[in-house]
Amino acid sequence: MNTTSIQTKQDYGSDPVSVRETDQYRAEYVHAFVQKWDSLIDWNARIQSEGSFFIDKLKERGCRQILDVATGTGFHSVRLLEAGFEVVSADGSAEMLSKAFANARSRGHILRTVQADWRWLNRDVHQKFDAIICLGNSFTHLFNENDRRKALAEFYAALRHDGVLILDQRNYDALIDFGFNSTHTYYYCGTDVSVKPVHVDKGLARFEYSFSDGDQYFLNMFPLRKDYTTRLMQEVGFQHIETFGDFQETYRESEPDFFIHIADKA
Ligand code: SAM
Repeated sequence: MNTTSIQTKQDYGSDPVSVRETDQYRAEYVHAFVQKWDSLIDWNARIQSEGSFFIDKLKERGCRQILDVATGTGFHSVRLLEAGFEVVSADGSAEMLSKAFANARSRGHILRTVQADWRWLNRDVHQKFDAIICLGNSFTHLFNENDRRKALAEFYAALRHDGVLILDQRNYDALIDFGFNSTHTYYYCGTDVSVKPVHVDKGLARFEYSFSDGDQYFLNMFPLRKDYTTRLMQEVGFQHIETFGDFQETYRESEPDFFIHIADKA
């Protein structure tokens, strides 16, 4: 199996649904998939759909210094920079960070990037932040509970005493309990790509991303249940957690595509 991210093709071996490892993310975000990521998320449409939700939440709390731990191609890092926040952009994937840097550069910004895996975040990031954002259904890449606890504890430690973690996730409860019914409106806004699950069980959600030019990529993710995620956050020490469904305060459990957890340390 390939373990470097300079590949153009993903390689899940002969039994893709058996690939359930936290370390897999670097090999999944191969160069060619990363180059296509922005047509999947469509920056302009995503700005329209999420509006100023994150900016408002951060401003309400008086946050200034933000660590984006799942920078990806830089969408939120750039938005927050443009809204006047100080941003450090971290990601475990060098491919993603280099694309993020180029995207920011083309918009007139120099990103402060750090390549860091969440499980050892504070080895590479030596500053405390008012807020950490982990967005775009990224936490789902962690395949075992120890890794999730370790990552959350590292996020907790990188925050100031009154800091806040904003972490989102796909509504896997609905996927497991009711089947797939996403409108893709909020996160995957691109129109030349279709996203669908090809395998779901309690330990794996394998999604297929098909682009109009025929290219196909996959992501193997752990299907986090909402209450499980919030329980882990509480257990590592976050005092107050508020969960939004697709940026709304009130929602029916089966309706939102995504949940957004806002976890306060104090
Ligand atoms: N936030 C971006 C967005 O919304 O477009 C990117 C989301 S992408 C689904 C997930 C990102 O999390 C990838 O850039 C991946 O490299 C990063 N990631 C996954 N597991 C990680 C880990 N253990 N440590 C650091 N980064 C990780």
